[in-house]
Amino acid sequence: MNYTIPLFDLHYDHDESLAAKNVIDSKWISMGPQVKVFENAFTKHLNVKYAVAVCNCTAALHLALLILDISRGDEVIVPSLTFVATVNAVRYVGASPVFCDVTSFNDFSLDPDDIRSKITNKTKAVIVMHYGGFACNMGKIMSIARDHNLYVIEDAAHAPDSEYQKQKLGTIGDIGCFSFFSNKNISCAEGGALVTNNEEYAHKARLLRSHGMTTLSFDRAKGHATEYDVISLGYNYRIDDIRGALILSQLDKLKADTDKRKYLRGIYCEHLKNNPKIIVPYDLYEERTSDYIFPILLKDSTEEKRNNVRDQLRREGIETSVHYPAVHRFSIYRQFSCQLPKTDYIAKNEITLPLFYSLEEENIAHITFALKKII
Ligand SMILES: *Cc1c(COP(=O)(O)O)cnc(C)c1O
Repeated sequence: MNYTIPLFDLHYDHDESLAAKNVIDSKWISMGPQVKVFENAFTKHLNVKYAVAVCNCTAALHLALLILDISRGDEVIVPSLTFVATVNAVRYVGASPVFCDVTSFNDFSLDPDDIRSKITNKTKAVIVMHYGGFACNMGKIMSIARDHNLYVIEDAAHAPDSEYQKQKLGTIGDIGCFSFFSNKNISCAEGGALVTNNEEYAHKARLLRSHGMTTLSFDRAKGHATEYDVISLGYNYRIDDIRGALILSQLDKLKADTDKRKYLRGIYCEHLKNNPKIIVPYDLYEERTSDYIFPILLKDSTEEKRNNVRDQLRREGIETSVHYPAVHRFSIYRQFSCQLPKTDYIAKNEITLPLFYSLEEENIAHITFALKKII
């Protein structure tokens, strides 16, 4: 089906074409100088000490758990209202995910009280996910983590330009993980980054990103090194310089992108305010947010009613999505399942409406008009 209003559109133009072409013309296309320039620019943007670019955010999450020495027998507290990668990474290292519910129908991120209630003597870490770019309650979560000696990993895939009390998300816990997949705020098709203020973690991330080898091909090609040793069992989680240049170009657009999303979100909220059948989560949220998506929650609804609303929006040419089907309900997670009533309701009754840089005011008027008519 061809939608008149898609859920998402890339914020790409001639800058990205040129950035990719320049790398191709240089004939050094794998990881090299562009990735370094991006890493430096990303540390400046986030005001964090180290950034390690990798092939995707899932790899960054896997590396984060490896670096923090989390393994079989350990428990990691995770959200269920997230993309499945957040939880899969826990299984990659053999640890067990312990699902927590969200805070409320207005705040879809992990409930600090539920985190506290699920801590056991096996708990080693919490992975928080900043839903839609809106910050988790990091004050409370960091304080619980300190009390119980837990690591905090931030899945900041939605939050490349979000803040919590003026500090960029992804830089508050021990390690932050970002995604540059095609539909994220900034994108290079497939890409990610691990960020940290801890020098040892950054060093380990660099080693594990490239087979545990002590030098990179680029350094050897430039004569900076002639041989290498392999000192730990690493992976090939590298990103290439074509993507490095693309994501660098996208980083230049990020501030304008965030500002535009904030403006568009304001228009959505204006059209939907005081509607008795809809909850607009985070409607009173005030901090800087990346506004990755625009979610709404249907009140007193069912999954069938929600799917019906989505079908009718599709017939109007409007693409929607669901963020997210609950992870604890997937077949491979049934053995870890538990009672998460708020997550279950949101997974069945949430609708994600279109939001992207080039979306126009009249598109939002059309979408909200259609939505109000349908419900
Ligand atoms: C997109 C996403 C990921 C995975 O990112 P990739 O770069 O595709 O591996 C992880 N967590 C969340 C919350 C995401 O939205």
